[in-house]
Amino acid sequence: MREKERICKTCGAVYTGKSCWNCDTNFSAGHADPLVVLTRELADALDTLNYGEAKSVYRRAGIEQRQFLRVKNRQTKYTSLHVADAILSALERPELLHNGTVRVIPNPRWTKEKWEFYLNYHCPEDNLTDF
Ligand SMILES: [Zn+2]
Repeated sequence: MREKERICKTCGAVYTGKSCWNCDTNFSAGHADPLVVLTRELADALDTLNYGEAKSVYRRAGIEQRQFLRVKNRQTKYTSLHVADAILSALERPELLHNGTVRVIPNPRWTKEKWEFYLNYHCPEDNLTDF
């Protein structure tokens, strides 16, 4: 059976399966996001929620309960920015991402080489030497 071909969001190469042969981005394991937040900083915003409120937040955020609980119970070190954004929007606290309460940082799992692929693909005009 022929595998489905996809375009890599990091480097633009065509790949099949779960990771890109060219830049090694693994799209199945949450490594694909260039920006992440520290889970504990995000989890602090969820500590005051009771069970019913927590349930309504992850439903409104459009994420799985599992994913929500990994954040709430601080089971991972980092959480993708898009997940953090969905949770904080559902919580009606989007400002936490902008006032430094929940800091947005480059994904520490990304190598310099991968960043170069990513920036070259997404911002080909930019000068990368300062990065
Ligand atoms: Zn790639």
